[in-house]
Amino acid sequence: MYSTKISDRVYLLDTYAIGQPSTVSAFLIKGPKPTLVDCGYSSSYENVLSGLAEVGVMPTDIRYLVPTHVHLDHAGAAGRLLREMPNAEVIAHERGVPHLIDPTRLIESSTKVFGKAIMDLYGVPEPIPAERITAVGEEASLDLGGGLTATLMYAPGHAPHQISMMLDESKALLTADAVGIVYPGMKALIPTTPPPSFDPKQLVATVGSLRQTTPSELLVPHFGIRKDVDWVFDQTTQLVERWVDTVRGLWKKGMSLDEASEIMEKEILEEAGVQELPIYASISIRTSVMGIIHYLEKTHE
Ligand SMILES: [Zn+2]
Repeated sequence: MYSTKISDRVYLLDTYAIGQPSTVSAFLIKGPKPTLVDCGYSSSYENVLSGLAEVGVMPTDIRYLVPTHVHLDHAGAAGRLLREMPNAEVIAHERGVPHLIDPTRLIESSTKVFGKAIMDLYGVPEPIPAERITAVGEEASLDLGGGLTATLMYAPGHAPHQISMMLDESKALLTADAVGIVYPGMKALIPTTPPPSFDPKQLVATVGSLRQTTPSELLVPHFGIRKDVDWVFDQTTQLVERWVDTVRGLWKKGMSLDEASEIMEKEILEEAGVQELPIYASISIRTSVMGIIHYLEKTHE
């Protein structure tokens, strides 16, 4: 099963990133203007097509493709999918658009972060023709047809080119990576603080402004539907602040990235009350520690 029905018009599509279930999702909003929010890695684009087929939406039906930000787990498949989606218009934050048109720098910086072996698993994003992209800024409204509208809100901190999307009718909020990673059945959150542009102050401010929009539920890319909105917001803020403090301490002691990542992974294992984490969670923890170290080096904090 690639799809889970969330409400009358909203579906979660599991992209089975690097073959793993429940790690990277996309969301489909059905209706007169079918809209795909995020689309996973380039290497898993076929799983998105399988998800669409399951819920009876043809790729040619897709009217909007909204990558919440340009990271490979959200927008990686966009270029490849657009070849199957001739009627789709891409909506993205203005700061992400250059990377969608020419992903060269994005591929370079992702390879630096993840290494060649993992990049091969993720797949390389294809360029998107500029004329197929509409850029948005601080806030924008999107008409999804059939009386449903969405509000796109700038949501920096995790990345400077990120937007979150509120479905105005139900007040379901597609958070993008503005909130921590919450795997199904796992109690602990993992912070979303990757290099090269994570900014803790912006991330905390974004969580604050998203909270003010009083969402009824959160649709989280990693992973699923959260009804405990306040808990997720509270935990995200506390977690980011705590991790920055802890990693700063480890880094000042001269620990390497691997050593610091191992310590943070132990903390997550304890909090989650499990013996082992899925491989994807370990990659996420290491990436988040790397992002915090990168931030500390950049700002000399
Ligand atoms: Zn992500």
